[in-house]
Amino acid sequence: MRKKIVAGNWKMHKNAEQTEDLLNELIDKMPLETEVQVIVAPTFINLATAVDHLEFIAIDVAAQNMHQAESGAFTGEISADMLQNVGVNIVILGHSERRAIFNETDALIASKVNTALEHDMTVIFCFGEELKDRQSKNHFNVVENQLRDGLFSIQASDWSNVVLAYEPVWAIGTGETASPEQAQEMHEFIRETVRKAYGSDIAEDVSILYGGSVKPENAKEIFSKPDVDGGLIGGAALKADDFMAIVNAI
Ligand code: 13P
Repeated sequence: MRKKIVAGNWKMHKNAEQTEDLLNELIDKMPLETEVQVIVAPTFINLATAVDHLEFIAIDVAAQNMHQAESGAFTGEISADMLQNVGVNIVILGHSERRAIFNETDALIASKVNTALEHDMTVIFCFGEELKDRQSKNHFNVVENQLRDGLFSIQASDWSNVVLAYEPVWAIGTGETASPEQAQEMHEFIRETVRKAYGSDIAEDVSILYGGSVKPENAKEIFSKPDVDGGLIGGAALKADDFMAIVNAI
């Protein structure tokens, strides 16, 4: 049985004080019994605080990015070893904002993925089409290429450390969500694409999260779809009540 996961991507929000406040609220509201893996991804500078605060609670901490090199003259960058050294073993890679604003290519993302997996970290691999791709009915091609070029050089044995996050760019931060049917249609296609490349066992085991304007009001319906195994949440992850309502919607 594949894992159900709800992850909150805090993006460039919350200073140190606000991070502590939100963590404390999440600790208060976290359900005692849940089969859902809950993950939060604060900014780099607040990761150590998050790990510290969440030591005794079943909420995991992820980074929002990392550099592919082990170390070196890369001003402003953070390595896998640095993340692991403060207790972070999960990393979000390939987010559409990194692709669009910071020019991350599939090849660069693939090399970050390889470094993370060599470190035995879990990768939340993000991908998804832009509005123009969907309008030109090219969305399945775009998604397949992102998977092939950014991810499919990994070994079969690495898949236990990979989570997929389908995030259609047109639904991120726009208030517009993919309909549950659109999400299911794409998730089914993604699973089929994994099946063709790596076989049924891996395809059935990999968790595929949906991201893009997930809110307490729409989470239940999206999560009810058979190939949607949880969500990667942006805006609604910044409020403890909303985030936990989404966790409880699975
Ligand atoms: P929103 O939930 O704000 O649309 O953001 C989704 C996202 O980009 C998560 O990584």
